[in-house]
Amino acid sequence: MSKQTLSFQAEVAQLLHLVTHSLYSNKEIFLRELISNASDACDKLRYEAINDSGLYEDAPNLEVRVSFDKDAKTLTITDNGIGMSAQEAIEHLGTIAKSGTKDFVAKLSGDQKADSQLIGQFGVGFYSGYIVADKITVESRRAGMKTSEGVRWVSGGAGDFEVETIERAARGTSVTLHLRDDALDYASAWKIKSVIAKYSDHISLPILMEKEEWKDGELINPSDEKGGRQPGAMVKTGEWETVNKANAIWARAKKDITQEQYDDFYKQISHDFEAPLAHTHNRVEGSTEYTQLLYIPSKAPFDLYNRDKSAGVKLYVKRVFIMDDAEALLPTYLRFVKGVVDSADLPLNVSRELLQESRDVKAIREGCTKRVLGMLEDLAKHDKPATPSTEGATDATAETVTDVLSAEEKAEAEKSAGKYSKFYQEFGAVLKEGLGEDFSNRERLAKLLRFASTSSDTVSVGFADYKARMKEGQEAIYYITADTLAAAKNSPQLEVFKKKGIEVLLMTDRVDEWALNYLHDFDGTPLQSVAKGAVDLGKLQDETEKKAAEEAAEAFKPLLAKLKEALKDKAEDVRVTTRLVDSPACLVVKDDGMSTQLARMLKQAGQTAPEVKPVLEVNAEHALVKKLDGSVHFHDLAHILFDQALLAEGGLPADPAAYVKRVNALLV
Ligand code: ADP
Repeated sequence: MSKQTLSFQAEVAQLLHLVTHSLYSNKEIFLRELISNASDACDKLRYEAINDSGLYEDAPNLEVRVSFDKDAKTLTITDNGIGMSAQEAIEHLGTIAKSGTKDFVAKLSGDQKADSQLIGQFGVGFYSGYIVADKITVESRRAGMKTSEGVRWVSGGAGDFEVETIERAARGTSVTLHLRDDALDYASAWKIKSVIAKYSDHISLPILMEKEEWKDGELINPSDEKGGRQPGAMVKTGEWETVNKANAIWARAKKDITQEQYDDFYKQISHDFEAPLAHTHNRVEGSTEYTQLLYIPSKAPFDLYNRDKSAGVKLYVKRVFIMDDAEALLPTYLRFVKGVVDSADLPLNVSRELLQESRDVKAIREGCTKRVLGMLEDLAKHDKPATPSTEGATDATAETVTDVLSAEEKAEAEKSAGKYSKFYQEFGAVLKEGLGEDFSNRERLAKLLRFASTSSDTVSVGFADYKARMKEGQEAIYYITADTLAAAKNSPQLEVFKKKGIEVLLMTDRVDEWALNYLHDFDGTPLQSVAKGAVDLGKLQDETEKKAAEEAAEAFKPLLAKLKEALKDKAEDVRVTTRLVDSPACLVVKDDGMSTQLARMLKQAGQTAPEVKPVLEVNAEHALVKKLDGSVHFHDLAHILFDQALLAEGGLPADPAAYVKRVNALLV
């Protein structure tokens, strides 16, 4: 193939523009990205060579070499990995196959720090070279192809690139960066070494650099030592040395690894800039043998809610990299976990299909799930306990209980304080998916859930906290789901609970209602939505209240029949309730029904929701309700009552204009 000029795919051009214009304050990441690509290429070769050892040609030792030329202003990263054919170079370096790129572009905020964190998540690694280079030359030959089938790819990172076939003896790829003037410090050994130490120490293959040594300058006057010398300089010795630690951190003993090293490894595999919230590192022995090093990030990625997104756990077999994103290793609801699993038992040529069926993988998956849950339980235990306000409670006896802790325990507790709430804020909603997905761990998961409540605006109340505060005679854990905290807090359905000082959990995540479908009780206490079914406060209601309610229901029978008739297209039923104090009416659904809120959400999402006709409950004590009977406006009032109940819970009347007309007619 003779030299030809090709255009970048539109997205690449756009991305390149962004890379060069938004990442210059975080230049050094380019080296991590390019070394990581080189390392991936070596992993791929090792994997393909399992079935075809000829691919090693005569260079079985996989390595990455980093070199620079001060005079030519270049920095070169060379690997002897899998390499690229000409066609692959055109495809891989000229287009972005991944569909996430458009999202990426849309997500860029203009905030450099945030943007440079995103860049890793999208795997736009190679293009980061243009942060420091105004031209990049890539030369490569794919393992197993003829030396005449090498390729050279050159681009200034604007609209197009050149490719041509070249003769290349060495297998693998070299990427040469022609450094910009403001990035010339990357043509120095100490700078490169310091960046490698920061990001690439744990790459499990050696990164080599040519040794340099100091050489004095020539004598100015060769016959006279005292005449002085030309300035000296560092010169290359032709000898190469390994500049990274080059061993798999997870294979080392825990006691030999510092917190900082754990954090650095996390940053390297996750492309995250922030340290993780927690990690767990274990060698598991037994019927299956494996090592796990798993992390919980501090921040949720932008695409957390995409359930199809790739998982963050890499699978190794006996330290040989097998695959990224091994989704079989953890359930979907733990997709935020990053890390490494290294199995001693799986065959090296394991495929994704095989993974799904393997007994060993099942055991690993269970083990990893338990570890992650254990890690979360630990964080939760050390988090500061929720301090509920005692508002509304009549029998509050202020009492502080301080545990006696050792100095060590105190330090540990301080370090972990607040971590669980931080975790929960980022990943709590995803964790809830587990209730429907992982039945075997449902109880453990339920203990990890936190909610806001009528006594706590912060999302910090667990079911156990709630139970400990339940009123005497209270037989259920009460909760309400709504779109927002404000809507939940002001919901008419809560009125009687507020009056009686009974705590109600306020659930405002989209998944709550779906997830709660899978949890009927907690530790023997049933969960009860206050917006479903008739209100039954059981023993919390005293005899006189019960009697009054029964009498009201009896006295209202004729009115209810009329209301039912007037609203027969809208309401499933109309009844008198004791749950309201200030509001005239509210809507509830039948015990097993889908809430109007969830039905609304489904419709907004373009899905078909079953038509739910709610039950209208009226407050017999309310002036408006008392006025209904015998009013000449009965029909209009009935509809207004219904539509207002809908508005109060964040819904919209089916015919808003008709509602406005009715209200205006009365106002006039
Ligand atoms: P990513 O690595 O996330 O896929 P990059 O933009 O860094 O994204 O690289 C694009 C593709 O180019 C890689 O997936 C790989 O196929 C190819 N590539 C990049 N660097 C190398 C290399 N050193 N050796 C072989 N292939 C490479």
